[in-house]
Amino acid sequence: MTLHLVHLYPDEMNTYGDRGNRLTLLQRARWRGLDPVVHFVGIGDDFPEETDLVLGGGGQDSAQADIQADVLRKGDRLHQLVRDGVPMLMVCGTYQLLGRRFRTHEGEEIAGIGVFDVETIGGDRRLIGNAAVQTEAFGTLYGFENHSGRTRLGADQQPLGRVLRGNGNNGEDGTEGARTGNAIGTYLHGPLLPANPVLADALLSLALARRGEPAQLEPIDEPLVERSRAEAATRAY
Ligand code: GLN
Repeated sequence: MTLHLVHLYPDEMNTYGDRGNRLTLLQRARWRGLDPVVHFVGIGDDFPEETDLVLGGGGQDSAQADIQADVLRKGDRLHQLVRDGVPMLMVCGTYQLLGRRFRTHEGEEIAGIGVFDVETIGGDRRLIGNAAVQTEAFGTLYGFENHSGRTRLGADQQPLGRVLRGNGNNGEDGTEGARTGNAIGTYLHGPLLPANPVLADALLSLALARRGEPAQLEPIDEPLVERSRAEAATRAY
């Protein structure tokens, strides 16, 4: 079965190895006998007709300003995909732009599209380090955060999880990321998915379920991943 993966803004939003998320999904899909196809969707590009999963990475404030107008143009389509239950993983810079607004630490206003009911204000000190996040749906997630933005959730916005180590959304309220339907926003780089295969497989399962396909994926025995997770569990911030 062909699975259509959209990688948004691969040229502009590509910090801290976020493309590893794409590689992980591709490999894990192939291991399950699926036929994943990647569509790179940048500034001015249209979405493919069929979209099963959407990925976005992090980027500099300046890169976010560069893609802003295009994000706004794609806003209706992205909202539609979220309403249709398409799973998404939006990391850091794209998480912020799928929120309502981002004011950079230099005071530049970047409007977002409000898939996530969050607002982000840049601070003077960057929040940098190894983070661990407890989630109900995906267990403990390990990643690396590096952002100046402090993100606040709207009253009804569900977070992705609770911070066990690190700063998460803002370093104050203990929340990390956001979840709207099957769309996930997070500050976790690393890249995130190689170290957190439960989340990778959950995204694939959601994509399959939406297509009406059996979505129970056989677990894969991965001693190396287990070792890296054990190591991540003990890592200092
Ligand atoms: N420029 C944003 C910030 O610093 C996002 C950074 C990132 O994507 N790593 O908050």
